[in-house]
Amino acid sequence: FMSKIYIALGSNLDEPSEQIYKAINLIDAIDDLSVTHISSLYKTKPIGKIDQPDFINAAIEVEGDISPENLHAALQDIETQAGRIRKELNEPRTLDLDILLIDDLIMKTKKLTVPHPRMHQRQFVIVPLFEINQKLNIPGIGPINKILKSLPDQGVVKI
Ligand code: ADP
Ligand code: MG
Repeated sequence: FMSKIYIALGSNLDEPSEQIYKAINLIDAIDDLSVTHISSLYKTKPIGKIDQPDFINAAIEVEGDISPENLHAALQDIETQAGRIRKELNEPRTLDLDILLIDDLIMKTKKLTVPHPRMHQRQFVIVPLFEINQKLNIPGIGPINKILKSLPDQGVVKI
């Protein structure tokens, strides 16, 4: 069964743009998955702890036959390979890979909430996602064009 999946990528340490490109290649190499759309890269201001480098963010669309659990495990492996040390929320990180959407699935387990629970509040997620698919609907939240318009400017700049 083929799913259409959207993933957000972010990095603010150790050559962030390189981290994003490497991660996209590693995601494309996951068995039974392929990357079908890649957004531009965006430079964004950190949220929460603001005394840290700017982030580079992007979004991708992937298609494939994989369970949410296996996808999440594979993405965590890629984060670990990038040298990510898991500490607190909103800390600087070499690589953050978040599952945004899996078709029109709504799920919540201890490890995984889909749609990603904070995606619709984050301009650095919604702007790159809108670039790759302007027709998306976020289950339980609404159409992406409305969400984009409702967001305050959080300093997201296309590079
Ligand atoms: P954040 O991305 O919010 O800065 P982390 O990357 O450290 O934080 O992730 C924290 C936890 O979020 C992970 O342990 C993971 O199990 C959980 N999580 C829940 N839903 C998702 C999702 N849709 N995509 C990625 N991680 C998720
Ligand atoms: Mg994450």
